[in-house]
This record gives sequence, structure tokens and C-alpha cells, in this order.
Amino acid sequence: MTNITPYIFKVQRYSIHDGPGIRTTLFFQGCPLACQWCHNPESQAMGQVPEVKNIGELVESLVLEIERDRIFYDESGGGVTFSGGEPLAQPKLLLPLLSACREQEIHTCLDTCGFAPFNIFKAAATAADLVLFDIKIMADQDHQIFTGKPVGQILENLKNFSRQFPHIREKMKLRFPLIPARTDTRDNIRQIIEFITRQTPYRDIHILPFHTSGDGKYERLKMKNKLKHICPPTVEHLEEVRQMFAAKGFNAIIGG
Ligand code: SF4
Repeated sequence: MTNITPYIFKVQRYSIHDGPGIRTTLFFQGCPLACQWCHNPESQAMGQVPEVKNIGELVESLVLEIERDRIFYDESGGGVTFSGGEPLAQPKLLLPLLSACREQEIHTCLDTCGFAPFNIFKAAATAADLVLFDIKIMADQDHQIFTGKPVGQILENLKNFSRQFPHIREKMKLRFPLIPARTDTRDNIRQIIEFITRQTPYRDIHILPFHTSGDGKYERLKMKNKLKHICPPTVEHLEEVRQMFAAKGFNAIIGG
């Protein structure tokens, strides 16, 4: 297909992560955050915002690409996942794509860090079939240091949409990236459990273990990898964290 940068930096077919079944994942270029553990660091720089006159063509070509694997979606209960980067950072592309997929009856999943203005989040989450929402760090200062942005808007979105908008609440799933020495402190996990318990109806959480698959990219891009010497969590540590959630009544699942 045509060069889709700077809007989408990668299209991955036959993906079995980030949503049910076999999926095509579109990785959007640009993210408001810069998480130290990001395994797609090439996605962080914001692409040029697409010109409105090009959007129709771009959406059409992307939907054609997505439709190529419809047979696999139908057989596996899959569809398309919009990931990134942060898809909500490019609403002029994301929103028409979500509508076009709905028209074609293709299941859509929005994979988001939750850092987005209220109206954009609401419009996209309403149009998507499934929303994967990451909750990372509760302490504002730590969130700022480790992701580059404050946490307030993310928590507000999570709280508001899970409380006030039942049609969005029902399609959201929470995920917690377990990053050694960043998100995995007992204090942070306790605060996350407390926030979810008090402010949302969710009692399911997916724990996503840190992995080092993005390491080579940092070298290639000449970006500083602040987690270079950090190892993925051990099985024992994962289980310990899973039990912290389970002890508070959560159905905690390792993996996405
Ligand atoms: S939110 Fe995701 S894509 Fe954005 S910097 Fe963090 S890990 Fe990378």
C-alpha cells in the first residue's frame, strides 16, 4: 500500500494481541506520552496532522488493507486494533476510520493511554467496539518523570467514562503495564487498586509484563534507553503482583 507515514507507522497483520481473535493492528504515529519503557519509540514523534482533503482517500486505502483479512476476523472473532503511538492524538483520521469499519461490520478495538481531551475520548470510545485502557502510575510526579506527562487527565477520563457513560463503561478493559522500578512498587499498585475500587466498577485487570523487544530500536534511533539494564519481571514477581490484585477481589490476568 502507499506510504502512510506520518499518520500510521506500521500495519501489522495476523496479530493475536491487543484484542480478541486474529487482528490487523494499525499503529498510529504520534503519542503525547514518552514512557521510558515504550517498545515503539519510533511512534512517539507527532506526525503532521493530516490535511482534511486527504483523509477520505487515506481512510479508504486503510479500510481496503484491513478488509484483506476479513476471512480471518470472521473465523476467529477478530478485527482491527488501533494502537500506537496514541490513536486519540489523530482524531481526524481515527474517527472516520472507526465509522468506516463499523459500516463494513469490522470489529474495532481502541488501544489507548487515556491521555486525550474529553470530547475526543468520548467520540472514539463511542464508535469503537472495545477500548483497552492502560493505567500506569498514580503519583503525579512519578507519572510526569516516567511518561513525560501528568496523570490527572487519564484518571479523570477513566473515572468519568466508567461512571457516567454506561455504553462506554461496558466496552472498556483495564490494563496495567508491570515495569520494574517504574510501575511495580507496592505503593503504586496499592494506589491503583484503591483508585479502581473507589472510582470505577471494574474488577478485572490485565497485567502486561515489561519486555525488552524494543531495545534494538532505541539504538537504531539513537534514543536514550533509560531501561536498558532492566530485566523483565520474574514469574514469581508477576504472581506476587497478581495476588495483590486478587486479594482485593480482582480477577487479575497476566497478559493482554
Ligand atoms: S503511551 Fe504507549 S506508545 Fe505512548 S509512549 Fe507510552 S508506551 Fe509508547
